[in-house]
Amino acid sequence: MGTDITLRVFGSRGSTPVHGSDFTRYGGATSCIAVNIGGESVILDAGSGLTGAAKWVPKSGEFSILISHPHIDHIIGLTSFAPLHNPDNSVRIFAAEHGGLGAQEQVERLMSAPLWPLGTEVFSDSTQFCDIDSDGTFQIGAVRVDTIEGNHPGGCTVYKLTHGEHSIVYCTDFEHDKHHSERLASFAADCELLIYDAQFSDAEYETKQGWGHSTREEAVRLARRCGVRKLLLFHHSPSRTDDALDAAEALTRLDFPDSSFAKREEVVLL
Ligand SMILES: [Zn+2]
Ligand SMILES: [Zn+2]
Repeated sequence: MGTDITLRVFGSRGSTPVHGSDFTRYGGATSCIAVNIGGESVILDAGSGLTGAAKWVPKSGEFSILISHPHIDHIIGLTSFAPLHNPDNSVRIFAAEHGGLGAQEQVERLMSAPLWPLGTEVFSDSTQFCDIDSDGTFQIGAVRVDTIEGNHPGGCTVYKLTHGEHSIVYCTDFEHDKHHSERLASFAADCELLIYDAQFSDAEYETKQGWGHSTREEAVRLARRCGVRKLLLFHHSPSRTDDALDAAEALTRLDFPDSSFAKREEVVLL
């Protein structure tokens, strides 16, 4: 049975944007996924893909942006996102504390000299920054949002959006280990969709431990353990070309058929 949840991918690249003919199908923009759920418009992370989401958000009215953590590939899109300047929009930006900084302070750190010429005062008065717990619960309209702390240098919030019986989990920038993976497995149990950091393969991870990222093989192990219906692999390494991602997707589908590597402008219906 279908749900009322629809996703559109505006950025699936990790770490830094990439550009060129090798990156057309999966796209080069960094983390940004727009979700329609329970009548709400929710954007997961504000990487460089956020600019593409300007045409997706309502021309007037409310929507929300959930920030996983303030690494630059997850917030740089806020510097140039037109709806934040539109007084007809009412935007709420949610983030947990990172590095002793609240939600607004994290964005101000980026939007300040010498990194950027304009501060957050250029956003319309209807923009709100909302501080949340990294292990907590809050509501966006009829949508329940649960959070847990992931495993990533400087911290990273894992989000679960639930409406009615249906949940999706957004887990980017997550390095698997026994404790955090067990916690994530129970947090994501039986969700419709798990979006998961698959920056590396298991073989590549051998020399990348401590970098704060996971693997496509670990994504499959976790998805099976959780009983999720669909797996969306995310935060692609900047070195992965379209052909390399096609090959990784084909291998992953041998072990978990309802899986895909997130593609530029891909629409996911649940
Ligand atoms: Zn990242
Ligand atoms: Zn990060």
